[in-house]
Amino acid sequence: MDFALSDEQRQLRDEVKRFADNEVRPNAVEYDVEERFPHDIVEKAAEMGLTGTTIPIEYGGAGYGAVDSVLIAEEMFAADPGIALSVLATSFGTEAIQEYGTDEQKERFLEPVAMGEAISGAAISEPDTGSDVSSVSTRAEKDGDEWVINGTKMWITNGSVGDFFVTLCKTDPDADGRYNGFSQIVIESDRDGFSSEKITGKMGIRASDTAELVLDDVRVPEENLIGTEGAGFYQQMQFFDATRTGVAAQGVGIAKGAAERALEYAQEREQFGRPIGDFQAIQHKLAEMHTDTEAARNLTYKSAWEVDAGGAPNTTLASMAKEFASRIAVEVANEAVQIHGGAGYVNDFDVERFYRDAKITQIYEGTTEIQKLIIARELQGKGL
Ligand SMILES: Cc1cc2nc3c(=O)[nH]c(=O)nc-3n(C[C@H](O)[C@H](O)[C@H](O)COP(=O)(O)OP(=O)(O)OC[C@H]3O[C@@H](n4cnc5c(N)ncnc54)[C@H](O)[C@@H]3O)c2cc1C
Repeated sequence: MDFALSDEQRQLRDEVKRFADNEVRPNAVEYDVEERFPHDIVEKAAEMGLTGTTIPIEYGGAGYGAVDSVLIAEEMFAADPGIALSVLATSFGTEAIQEYGTDEQKERFLEPVAMGEAISGAAISEPDTGSDVSSVSTRAEKDGDEWVINGTKMWITNGSVGDFFVTLCKTDPDADGRYNGFSQIVIESDRDGFSSEKITGKMGIRASDTAELVLDDVRVPEENLIGTEGAGFYQQMQFFDATRTGVAAQGVGIAKGAAERALEYAQEREQFGRPIGDFQAIQHKLAEMHTDTEAARNLTYKSAWEVDAGGAPNTTLASMAKEFASRIAVEVANEAVQIHGGAGYVNDFDVERFYRDAKITQIYEGTTEIQKLIIARELQGKGL
């Protein structure tokens, strides 16, 4: 067994940490309070290759592997989850194009994202469709050489700032079987009939843009279909296998950020004439927070390592990593606020934001309950 990172990986981690400390962390409160998408930080991040991290080099991306991506996410989320998500999710949805797209589609959609000139998204959820992806009702019908699309997509990350969305649609309502008859189709936001409404008032990751998309007779060329017509549901599940390790890395980053800030505070804050870090109750909290973070990190790195080693995600491990790391993120952020006492309840300290930001990792890209369902199903050999 070899747990060592390569020299390049350590260098990458250090560079990202420097960027996160200098450009992300000092601006975090402003974007959170104003619920504003950090266009200027995204621009700087693009210069560093942090947009389109997994996009292959031949399409202008950085071509990073799964472990590299996890290292990047960890450092960025440890600085500020909302801005980190805005930066790293600029290529969200393109995983499907990378996997199933034609060369023409890769040139058309991946290159602008990699260059920081376009922002993508993945549109799956709907007002009545969340955990049960097979109930997607957005309809795409063929008319000549175009798809005509009608429906509403809900909670879409980058929804009001994105240039295109890989959208899960029902293309054959008469298909046999629950999971058949779906297709992934790219919808550009400048098409007639496309509109979006930003969702405000989120609990956390408020620098990240979330919106409802309304698709009203939107026409796109048939070349916008990704992969195989009718196989969209299965492609979507593979997409989640690939991205869930990324959400686990978000959880590790949040836990790391919260645990580090709690450690600093415990050494500075004095009560009863001593730093609170001298009290055994606080020491136990710190020990557990850092141990749990390390455990979540190891599970997440293992999941990413399997992708790099084997070329494909391990469904069970990806769900285990997401379930565990998101739980640890919530627990560690909670304890970090506790260690800060009253100071942790206001936004003078980062832990207040981490506490609110952590929760989303248990919800998006499949809730905790759905991860457990997948793990148990895989353990029992009962796939889809
Ligand atoms: C900030 C934010 C960003 C998001 N970004 C995107 C995005 O970019 N693209 C996108 O498509 N979606 C996105 N989502 C949507 C997200 O993926 C869904 O909210 C999530 O999948 C849960 O679906 P739901 O909200 O409809 O909850 P529901 O599916 O209605 O679930 C409600 C509760 O029931 C539980 N539950 C449901 N079914 C079962 C079951 N079979 N067994 C046990 N428990 C069950 C759930 O775990 C949950 O606790 C985002 C959501 C948020 C809040």
